[in-house]
Amino acid sequence: MSSPTAPSKPLDVAIVGAGLGGLTAAIALRRQGHLVKVFESSLRSRDIGAAIGIPPNSMRVLETLGYSLGNLRSTEYRGVVAYNADGSKAYTATFKDQAENYGVQGCMCHRSELHDELKRLALSEEGAGVAVEIHLGTEIVDCDPEAGRFTAQTGEKYDADVIVAADGIRSTMRTIVIGHPVVAPATGLCAFRWMADASKLEGKPEFDWVLKDGISGGRLVVGQDYARRCFLYPCRDRTLINVTMMHPDKRDQDQHSWYARVTRSDVLEEYKDFGPFFQSFIALVEDPINMWQMRALPVLSTWSKGRLVLLGDAAHATLPTLGQGAAMAVEDAGALGCMLPFGTTPQQVPARLAAYQDLRKERDEFVTVESLEQATVPAKRGLFHRSEEMQDLLNGYDAIAAAQEHFKKTFVVS
Ligand SMILES: Cc1cc2nc3c(=O)[nH]c(=O)nc-3n(C[C@H](O)[C@H](O)[C@H](O)COP(=O)(O)OP(=O)(O)OC[C@H]3O[C@@H](n4cnc5c(N)ncnc54)[C@H](O)[C@@H]3O)c2cc1C
Repeated sequence: MSSPTAPSKPLDVAIVGAGLGGLTAAIALRRQGHLVKVFESSLRSRDIGAAIGIPPNSMRVLETLGYSLGNLRSTEYRGVVAYNADGSKAYTATFKDQAENYGVQGCMCHRSELHDELKRLALSEEGAGVAVEIHLGTEIVDCDPEAGRFTAQTGEKYDADVIVAADGIRSTMRTIVIGHPVVAPATGLCAFRWMADASKLEGKPEFDWVLKDGISGGRLVVGQDYARRCFLYPCRDRTLINVTMMHPDKRDQDQHSWYARVTRSDVLEEYKDFGPFFQSFIALVEDPINMWQMRALPVLSTWSKGRLVLLGDAAHATLPTLGQGAAMAVEDAGALGCMLPFGTTPQQVPARLAAYQDLRKERDEFVTVESLEQATVPAKRGLFHRSEEMQDLLNGYDAIAAAQEHFKKTFVVS
């Protein structure tokens, strides 16, 4: 909040990208009293048809922004039951009681429910701050970070005091921040993603392992080589099951689209040596089935230049191994809000963005590297499930408290 001597003018904030990171940043900055415009290249503001785990560290930030858990139609994420490809039980990893240890219980939900909830908070007249403006079908193609001026594909130019680049793993704005393109390299891994209709499991005891048996959470089915594995969990009030099947990509990934549609027979063929319990489950596969290349960014030299700053996947896209990619974007957004309280002047912006980078870079890059290594280095596979220390480090973090502390230490003269 502004002090009597601070100017009481809000900052003009522009956000490039209306994904989970961009929308959360929009809410965090409107809550501080700034005027926020979001520019999204797609004609419709929506998320892809898949689900997402929301760990406690992410939920804590969403709570401070006023989200409603009920609107997510979520299921509690208490751990993972892992099976071998022949159907024998491999292990059960029950997470520490999250409500007791971290003050909030993590959950799993459909991405579109989370996206809709963020849009509701951004656009609503209710709650602190002025409703956010979202400009759909507006691709930002260029930016002068020092002047705070940026250009849409139509040639139209805009000005802002802060430009938040939340434009995802293939970020255009990243090239401007770094000075040259940084492309997330191929890992040789890909994933089929599809949704199963949970009503098809009803009255069939052979499917009890999917939703009924064991703790509320995820189910992992691992092949002998571990290279092929399937992670599934319910969403939308347990009416849908989100399925992610990771395996090595036989193609030269650089010669193919990062996201592609595949057929039912592609899925059945890839997992044909898994046991009958799994075959009968994947026989439920229906279009649309997407195949995603799994790519992770290398550590970047910097995240900000002048008034332009990277957030979320644009800065640190990684593999879904720890289920923390969007959570880091949400943490970034909450932290950025704390670095730019009402009363921040346009002249102060570059230093505030540098402080945001100081706070966030190490943690985000830890998650990026661990997510990659725990998928690809044999000795580290399943580490997150085994290690309470790592769960505490990720799930127990309070991004808002850490950011407020960092702001005080960096900018408040006592
Ligand atoms: C298989 C899989 C499973 C995952 N599971 C989880 C999970 O369980 N938990 C978790 O926390 N994370 C998970 N993640 C990671 C998570 O999906 C991402 O980290 C998160 O969506 C990143 O959000 P973002 O807003 O940074 O980027 P994005 O969601 O990519 O959004 C970027 C937006 O910017 C727009 N855009 C791009 N360029 C421009 C431009 N030039 N101008 C205007 N708009 C532009 C795009 O259209 C898009 O809407 C998973 C990822 C994958 C691949």
